[in-house]
Amino acid sequence: MHTTEVDVAVIGGGPAGLAAVTSAKNAGAERVLLIERDERLGGILNQCIHDGFGTKVLGESITGPEYAQIYIDKLQEAKADFCLNTMVLDLTPEKVLTVCSAEGMRRIKAGAVVLAMGCRERTRGALGIPGPRPAGVYTAGVVQNYMNLRNIMVGRQVVILGSGDIGLIMARRLTLEGAKVECVAEILPYPSGLARNVVQCLEDFGIPLYLSTTVTRIHGTGRVKGVTLAQVGPKWGVKSGSQRFVECDTLMLSVGLIPENELSKKAGVALSPVTGGAIVDDWFQTSVPGIFSCGNVLHVHDVVDYVTLEAEAAGRSAARYAAAGSLPSSPIKVKPGQGVRYVLPYQISGEDAVEFSLRALAPEKDRHVVFRSNGQVIRKMRELMVAPAQMIRVKLRADRFPKEGEITVEVTE
Ligand SMILES: Cc1cc2nc3c(=O)[nH]c(=O)nc-3n(C[C@H](O)[C@H](O)[C@H](O)COP(=O)(O)OP(=O)(O)OC[C@H]3O[C@@H](n4cnc5c(N)ncnc54)[C@H](O)[C@@H]3O)c2cc1C
Repeated sequence: MHTTEVDVAVIGGGPAGLAAVTSAKNAGAERVLLIERDERLGGILNQCIHDGFGTKVLGESITGPEYAQIYIDKLQEAKADFCLNTMVLDLTPEKVLTVCSAEGMRRIKAGAVVLAMGCRERTRGALGIPGPRPAGVYTAGVVQNYMNLRNIMVGRQVVILGSGDIGLIMARRLTLEGAKVECVAEILPYPSGLARNVVQCLEDFGIPLYLSTTVTRIHGTGRVKGVTLAQVGPKWGVKSGSQRFVECDTLMLSVGLIPENELSKKAGVALSPVTGGAIVDDWFQTSVPGIFSCGNVLHVHDVVDYVTLEAEAAGRSAARYAAAGSLPSSPIKVKPGQGVRYVLPYQISGEDAVEFSLRALAPEKDRHVVFRSNGQVIRKMRELMVAPAQMIRVKLRADRFPKEGEITVEVTE
């Protein structure tokens, strides 16, 4: 099989991959290559025709395709190479990629690799909802793809299970296209999506959101005829007597995203059981030297701006690694404490300032985010409101870090 060599290979041409390859090239890596399996660059942004992208990095709210185009232009200005319709099938710890395209299979040996493969959606199979298997059960991303890219309407009377952002956005889109969205059912006692999407996509359109509620059965042969909704208790047990039938022809699922880390596993990259993404240091380097991870394949992001910022940093690190063959070690461990689901990065070098990303365990008002090292508070900041849906970002200067040991991060009163 033919083998080519590059300094930095980036897998996935969504916003993470676009930013990573451009910043690697601008940081001095000469031979960079972005590899995308789809027929166009932009990733999931191509189907996100609503606005709300770019408020942090561009200072304006634009649509997904507009946001992607800005970064495609930057890639072209930097003269970074890319290939489309090319799927990465295999990745080794030695950073050898096996790729497949219409021209056949080939190998690419890279000095450094950036993983930017994004996420896939959780499906009905993962939930195990009982009942027959009629047509009319879709994930929210598939509905978005059909409606926004193929002009296909998926149904007229819709129940949505899960209040993730994609589902909320598609509730509004379906309503604008003439469908009746009966309700959104959410098993948790609070919404999984951003507060702004609950207001703009449900409340503004009079769509009810039923919390602590799930779908316990799908009805219909041939096509969905309805679903059974039921209330759940604190441990998600169904409350007896709470079941009710809701007529609909479509059930749309918005029940979470799964980082696409199959290639990462092949390369031996250690993954976090909490995020499903790689364990990285402040260079965005994974447990395999020279392999970096960023964007939704690292952890599911709320807004794309942070994907871009993170990927730019990962691209710079990859260029540095490709040139030097190593990066300074990261001896300081970072651990989630009380009230924190996860915090990234998992370890830091202490060389430079670090912007930490963390998510709270539950929605709460008037909290403090506290960073401690060796028993001492090194940073404390007030948050009027925290919610698992909203990523918290905190930047710490290098002079706050201990030389070694551990930092814990808590969300407390
Ligand atoms: C419905 C929806 C609505 C959203 N709304 C907003 C919003 O209003 N505002 C906002 O800021 N953010 C929003 N986001 C979030 C934002 O779009 C994502 O955070 C962002 O797209 C993630 O970028 P990514 O590059 O990591 O992944 P993706 O965009 O998913 O890109 C990953 C790319 O990798 C490619 N790939 C995967 N595996 C391989 C392989 N083996 N070989 C080659 N290529 C591969 C895929 O084809 C894809 O193009 C929304 C997301 C969704 C899904």
